[in-house]
Amino acid sequence: MKFFDTHAHCDDERYEKEYEGGTHKLIKDCFDTNISYIVNIGTSVENSQKSVELASMYPNMYASCGIHPSEVFYKDCDEAISQIEELLKNEKAVALGEIGLDYHYENVPRDLQMIYFKKQMALAERLNIPVIIHDRDAHGDCLEVVKEFPKVKGIFHSFSGSSEMAKELVKLGWYISFSGTVTFKNARVPKEACKVVPSDRLLIETDAPYLAPTPYRGTLNKSSYVELTATEIAFLRETTVDEIARITEENAKRIFRIK
Ligand SMILES: [Zn+2]
Repeated sequence: MKFFDTHAHCDDERYEKEYEGGTHKLIKDCFDTNISYIVNIGTSVENSQKSVELASMYPNMYASCGIHPSEVFYKDCDEAISQIEELLKNEKAVALGEIGLDYHYENVPRDLQMIYFKKQMALAERLNIPVIIHDRDAHGDCLEVVKEFPKVKGIFHSFSGSSEMAKELVKLGWYISFSGTVTFKNARVPKEACKVVPSDRLLIETDAPYLAPTPYRGTLNKSSYVELTATEIAFLRETTVDEIARITEENAKRIFRIK
């Protein structure tokens, strides 16, 4: 049984330093064991370039390109976003992201995050490409922006909102992706939310190297661990892991337009 990890940062330098054999060994190990596809996520112009380069080396790896809310410090916002647009022309680029709002840390001005978020949503609308949303402690504002761009669809990644929010996003045409946080013992909110997402809108991811699932919490995460997230979701939804693997791969291929 193989799984589609819709959100990983395989180019993270921690793999080169901490994974035996380095980045390429890690990716090979994941594809050789239990992973069918990986979407490698960009977080800045430079990192999106890396993401596209890495994806071009593996037939089943795709890339997203975008500017993360914690990476919005460019001198010229429009210039940075036009570079993202250029990168999205690559044949392995399947989504614009990750973009959004992060109110967890106070070090990035919220109005600056908002400017980058809205300009990238406008770009997604113009290019007719799906987006990947990073929403940390900013549920209300993210929902508002999404509603401002009704033609743009995509994924709320590592979903941490309520069941009500999940239902509302589904109604608006969005997909909901769950990460290792759903396996954490006290994660009541995502556990409840994952039960209400319809089968045709559910996705799984690792956000590796971050957010390793139980029992690896706090260690270096990798795409292969997405199976633990799928297992927990199967338990919560009272279905089989096979079924979760099958529907989440089908959904990922649909939203990313992978044939
Ligand atoms: Zn991420």
